[in-house]
Amino acid sequence: MLRDKYSLTTAAIASVFMLATAAQAQETFVSIGTGGQTGVYYQVGGSICRLVNRASKDNNIKCTFTTGGSVANINGIRAGDLDFGVAQSDWQYHAYNGTAPDKFPAGAFKELRAVFSVHPEPFTVVARVDSGINKFEDLIGKRVNMGNPGSGARATFEVVMDKMGWKTSDFKLAAELKSSEQAAALCDNKIDVIVFTVGHPAGTIKEATTSCESKLINVDNAEVRKLAADNDFYSMASIPGGMYTGSPDDITTFGVGATFVTSTKTSDDVVYAITKAVFDNFKRFKKLHPAFANLKEMDMITKNISAPIHPGAMRYYKEKGWM
Ligand code: GLU
Repeated sequence: MLRDKYSLTTAAIASVFMLATAAQAQETFVSIGTGGQTGVYYQVGGSICRLVNRASKDNNIKCTFTTGGSVANINGIRAGDLDFGVAQSDWQYHAYNGTAPDKFPAGAFKELRAVFSVHPEPFTVVARVDSGINKFEDLIGKRVNMGNPGSGARATFEVVMDKMGWKTSDFKLAAELKSSEQAAALCDNKIDVIVFTVGHPAGTIKEATTSCESKLINVDNAEVRKLAADNDFYSMASIPGGMYTGSPDDITTFGVGATFVTSTKTSDDVVYAITKAVFDNFKRFKKLHPAFANLKEMDMITKNISAPIHPGAMRYYKEKGWM
């Protein structure tokens, strides 16, 4: 009796194992470079993956995510560690054209390919109310979170600092916290101000503005206006008043666009499947995060794109008659 039970269990385990192996054989693993869990990039990766998995039960794509931000994502794709990544329009441009050798030491990344662009990302500054920061120029002498190296946000802040003639030694503290750590640091009074290029509403900015008294600061001066005027990948931007507690008025700043990129190494079929999953389910996609609510298909395939569009994505856009 005992022996029978044992063989039955063994048989059951064996058949489960066989099923699992069969399922595994069809799985395609796709790695997506995103950003911190409380930012919007992480949601872009998660949303794309959900739609791809939902699109077809035979299409067994499993996604894994990394959280380093734009520059790390592009370098990860180049190194072959990532298949896709979310990246700011400025860093997509510089990677493809080789115009930021300090961020992309291997030179122009001509195999970089755009899939589509996503949400706008204003350059966002959030200060503790008791810090005395009321305008961007007040950051001098304060404890500033510049963001983690590898993030596009950090890299864009460095561009702005350069235009402003600022050095890290001009700050009382130049912190390099990840975006997932910055709201707690602000509200624990370890830093005075967060600088983060991100879509809105963002979890990290909500956390910062609801956990302690803090407010968004305008970034509107001759230097950023010139940056926006001189470069296609920048534009002036605004963050609607009332979106965050403590910031009832519209905020003026400049910004970039988030984009979804890959490389020539990724197969046309995989890129096509992902593109199709997003645009065939576009209404659903837009509901997956409030920062996607105003997205328009034609903007996503024409704006903020510097690298050539991947042929797998292009196949879908041509099928739709969009290109
Ligand atoms: N734009 C940021 C970066 O590239 C990430 C923003 C987010 O996580 O949503 O680092």
